[in-house]
Amino acid sequence: MLKDKSPPDLILNLNCPECKYQDRCRQKAIEKDDLSLLTGMAEKERKKLNSKGIFTVTQLSYTFRPRRRSKRQRDKSEKYHYSLKALAIREKKIHIVGNPEIKIEGTPVSLDVEGLPDRDFYYLIGLRIRKGESIVQHSLWANSTEDEETIWREFIYILRTIDNPILVHYGSFERTFLKKMCERYGEPIEETNLKKSITESVNILTIIYAQIYFPGLSNGLKETAGFLGFNWTDPDC
Ligand code: SF4
Repeated sequence: MLKDKSPPDLILNLNCPECKYQDRCRQKAIEKDDLSLLTGMAEKERKKLNSKGIFTVTQLSYTFRPRRRSKRQRDKSEKYHYSLKALAIREKKIHIVGNPEIKIEGTPVSLDVEGLPDRDFYYLIGLRIRKGESIVQHSLWANSTEDEETIWREFIYILRTIDNPILVHYGSFERTFLKKMCERYGEPIEETNLKKSITESVNILTIIYAQIYFPGLSNGLKETAGFLGFNWTDPDC
């Protein structure tokens, strides 16, 4: 690379969020409308598209062709179409494939967890529950690793007060958290509803993925929420 006269091709990747050059590289990628802006696209797929002369998100958007699914295919989960994502971005429209459904038979409890993966430590459990016309929120903070078990127990205590709670979250981080906490501190095996809510939580992202295409480069919660009219009160968050 050092011997080369020109810099290497700019390809955004999984390390970018940790890199000090991320703002500069992202800006360049946006100027180029580079395919690597589409979060999650594998290198193999990008190279395959490049070999067909497709280098930009806009070029990709013109390749989407809707196809009728056969009866046999209808039972299988939908394949993710980057071309449809690109089309949604170009048209600034939300595209929906099939009839996405969310079945929640119980009391929905929104769950959002924050942690430090490199320290294997969860420091915040956020819960939001609708009670009639009002909303109840809980923010359980752990100041140190020693407090982690305390907030987990508080979390279980709150769930016990809810009739048939169904945990709803966005992404797999919360599911990993629930699994790890059960392994670390023991799962509440004696209570069927509680155990069910922990082991069968609903990941909204798996329903959105491949079925609802928002006109954003990623399926990140903040970006997606923006298309539904929600904004963070702190612009720097
Ligand atoms: S931000 Fe730029 S330099 Fe940093 S990892 Fe991403 S592409 Fe490489």
